[in-house]
Amino acid sequence: MLTCKQFLEELNDYLDPSIDPETKRHLEAHVCECPNCFVIVDTTQKTLKVFRGMDPQPIPEDLKNRLWSALERKMAAKKGVA
Ligand SMILES: [Zn+2]
Repeated sequence: MLTCKQFLEELNDYLDPSIDPETKRHLEAHVCECPNCFVIVDTTQKTLKVFRGMDPQPIPEDLKNRLWSALERKMAAKKGVA
C-alpha cells in the first residue's frame, strides 16, 4: 500500500497517458482508498485541462506545491503529526 507521499511523487506519472498499466493499477488502488488523493487527482486533472489544452505537460510546480500543502494540512489535522 502506498503512502500519500509516495503517491504524490508518482502523480506526474499517474496523469501521464503513456504510463505503464501495472504502475497505473498500483496508483489507482491508492486513489480508490484515499479520499484525499482522490480529490488531488480530480483537482489536478481539471486544472491541467485548463492549463494545457491537449498537450501533455508536467504538473506546474506552483500547483503541486499548493496541493502538497493542502494535503499536509489535512493529514496534520487528522493525525496530529504527519
Ligand atoms: Zn493518499
